[in-house]
Amino acid sequence: STLYKVDAWGAPYFAVNSSSGNITVRPHGSDTMIHQEIDLLKIVKKASDSKSLGGLGLQLPLIVRFPDVLKNRLESLQSAFNYAIESRGYESHYQGVYPVKCNQDRFIVEDIVSFGSSFRFGLEAGSKPELLLAMNSLCKGSPEAFLVCNGFKDSEYITLALLARKLALNTVIVLEQEEELDLVIEISNKLCIRPVIGLRAKLRTKHGGHFGSTSGEKGKFGLTTTQILKVVKKLEQVGMLDCLQLLHFHIGSQIPSTTLLADGVGEAAQVYCELVRLGAQMGVIDIGGGLGIDYDGSKSVESDISVGYTLEEYAAAVVEAVQRVCHSKLVKHPVICSESGRAIVSHHSVLIFEAMAASVCAAPALSTLGLQYLVDGLSEEARADYHNLSAATMRGDYETCLLYIDQFKQRCVEQFKQGTLGMKQLAAVDGLCDLIGNAIGANDPVRTYDVNLSVFTSIPDFWGIEQMFPILPIHRLDEKPTVRGILSDLTCDSDGKIDKFIGGESSLPLHELEGGHGSGQYYLGMFLGGAYQEALGGVHNLFGGPSVVRVLQSDGPHGFAVTRAAPGPSCGDVLRVVQHEPELMFETLKHRAKKFGDDDGNSIAALATYLARSFNNMPYLVASPCDMNTMNNR
Ligand code: PLP
Repeated sequence: STLYKVDAWGAPYFAVNSSSGNITVRPHGSDTMIHQEIDLLKIVKKASDSKSLGGLGLQLPLIVRFPDVLKNRLESLQSAFNYAIESRGYESHYQGVYPVKCNQDRFIVEDIVSFGSSFRFGLEAGSKPELLLAMNSLCKGSPEAFLVCNGFKDSEYITLALLARKLALNTVIVLEQEEELDLVIEISNKLCIRPVIGLRAKLRTKHGGHFGSTSGEKGKFGLTTTQILKVVKKLEQVGMLDCLQLLHFHIGSQIPSTTLLADGVGEAAQVYCELVRLGAQMGVIDIGGGLGIDYDGSKSVESDISVGYTLEEYAAAVVEAVQRVCHSKLVKHPVICSESGRAIVSHHSVLIFEAMAASVCAAPALSTLGLQYLVDGLSEEARADYHNLSAATMRGDYETCLLYIDQFKQRCVEQFKQGTLGMKQLAAVDGLCDLIGNAIGANDPVRTYDVNLSVFTSIPDFWGIEQMFPILPIHRLDEKPTVRGILSDLTCDSDGKIDKFIGGESSLPLHELEGGHGSGQYYLGMFLGGAYQEALGGVHNLFGGPSVVRVLQSDGPHGFAVTRAAPGPSCGDVLRVVQHEPELMFETLKHRAKKFGDDDGNSIAALATYLARSFNNMPYLVASPCDMNTMNNR
């Protein structure tokens, strides 16, 4: 547990069970009423064991979702704000929205709306399809829940948002650009729908970290001070200033400290009070996202992937900053809205993948080939190097060894290129050099573990912005790891690897794989990846998303119940994404089989069946080899 710092980043949801050595999950967090823990490995077995073994027959990689965690996150956020509000005598309430861009999965959005309806929790959309899904989901939510419409808008987006008001959804159109106002005025007049308008302010407060590029005067979004004044004037001219009710800003994701947060919220609260003074019917301050996650457990402002505050401290900083400014300007306290995404969904899903094989350090092919045979084949210079190397090894003169290993190897490669050294001999040279390298400790002790995963699909932020997530084996944690390794994915891309880990490590402590290739069953988990990773992941090399199970805590023998299981996209599904037509492809290949295959009808039928299965199966590796006779039938 200390090795992988599980208690630091995983509490209160994840821990290591010292008797089983497995990761356990407490989906209700530190809720003392519910004590039972779930063994993550048991979930993985249930999901991936074949149906004949009582499993669900899903292929890995696998996302395990815990809706109970989602509920706990949501309730914790709400209680943090409730406490900050009550304890400070703040005279309004907190009413958050979930920005669906973080993870648009239908069940996540539906869960959030349902878990949050008693405290009026709403949704934020940033595009037309997101708006459509938010409209649909909020039909089951609290009638007061906000539907905040952010992002660049055209007339269609604005029309939809206005229609949503007609459907009695509490929709706010947030102006990101000055030009959007003309469209809102025109379309709302045409449709005779009174809009509720918000505006996004471009604050001067700047978040210096990676996620801060949306903030500051040069930020991508929002209205400048001049533009805000123009919007107010125009609304006044058309008699719609009462429609302006919300002020929004977003400093950036993963805000590092409450100092920066309070600075930004304080600045925005000043803008809010000015808008009140100018006659707008203001009622809501929407502080955007940015509530951070402690990915490395360091709780440090210095670390890019950590934050120096708790949920409670975050809420307190926001409430105090708004209260201070409103108090000094004698302005009625606004409803506080936030658009936390990362902080709500990150913890609730765990990505499980398997290590299929690990590189082995020494590969001495020497015994199969007489040493003399090798030496005889060497050029005079290479032979001299060989003798010097042998002598230095005997003497234990490691520095000389290092010098001669490279030189000797290089000369042999030259000889191979010239055709005077055979492949077997060159392999023997490699084996000999590895052996000596191992003996003198010069070989890289870090192994490469091949994992059944695509980094581009499942951990795109690692590839794109070097964002690190906690990654560790989910079992065997009672055994001391004896190896260090990096993880190499399935894609034919040298960037498809994970070689940086939390804590600034360039390799991960790992266990030896048991058994040979494919029989390993060594399961690794990537934690805290519930936000953004699925939405950003692509289909590089046509690897699609993982299988998914939803798991609820239950009273059953293992303490959990799988309430939903879905295989990941099949080969056919990912082919369709890039405009291929799997059904036609299958027909073409079947036709070809009839034309060129064996005459035997049975074997043509078997071939066709095999092809059909190939289209239906996921693109990832299956642990057990499957041939035409023992076809994979999971
Ligand atoms: N709101 C807006 C406008 C955003 O741009 C973002 C994301 O960057 C969010 C909310 C969500 O931010 P976070 O996931 O940091 O809470």
